[in-house]
Amino acid sequence: MRQPFVAGNWKMNGSRESAGRLLEDLVRNLSPGNREVAVCPPFVYLADAMRVLKGSEIALGAQNVSEEESGAFTGEVSATMLQDFDCAYVIVGHSERRALYGETDEVVARKFMAAVRTGLRPILCVGETLEQREEGITDKIIGEQLDAILGVAGVHAFKEAVVAYEPVWAIGTGQTASPDQAQAVHAMIRSRVAAADDTIAAGLRIVYGGSVKATNASELFAMEDIDGGLIGGASLDAESFLSICQSA
Ligand code: PEP
Repeated sequence: MRQPFVAGNWKMNGSRESAGRLLEDLVRNLSPGNREVAVCPPFVYLADAMRVLKGSEIALGAQNVSEEESGAFTGEVSATMLQDFDCAYVIVGHSERRALYGETDEVVARKFMAAVRTGLRPILCVGETLEQREEGITDKIIGEQLDAILGVAGVHAFKEAVVAYEPVWAIGTGQTASPDQAQAVHAMIRSRVAAADDTIAAGLRIVYGGSVKATNASELFAMEDIDGGLIGGASLDAESFLSICQSA
């Protein structure tokens, strides 16, 4: 009943030329299937991406959004501006933004709301650090990250959202959560949302991110509550990303 979702987070990689080549490869070679695919290039390549992806099966997303609507916010990009470039999705709460740019749960909630208000679908990232996992407080940390958004946005805002479980220790490290480890957290996330609304929780796509590769995607995506993936490094290589999409 949930359509699988696979999104590529390109982060701050590539050039205009390599981004163009990657997009063309993806459009040319993505085979049809019952799953949704999106790519999230850097802001400056969104205009090119919009042109290449027009009429294709691949949706466009951004990696960040301002919590403000407009005004004197130098360097920021609003949700409305992203819609001007056909963005359907935006990543909020990525652990790199939390750790490197000091984005708190409160800021993430405001970004989530800015997206939802405008009709952009947030891809909300949550996840624990290695220390937190070792301390046995994974559920508590992720519960707090979710509650911060549920408290501000309300459960109805999750109708259009995707949640990405991204253990911080697995991002860009080559170390992947095992399917059982990931499934346990995904089930916990779903039951947390279900406590507020069963139907919304049942339809909510919860994807896994953290060193997903062509070789481990199938076993992760086969788990009951894993509805696809948010892919970093492997989304920069057309062949790997296409193979991951095929597994969903
Ligand atoms: C990410 O940054 O969202 C991510 C999942 O990265 P990687 O796949 O490279 O671990």
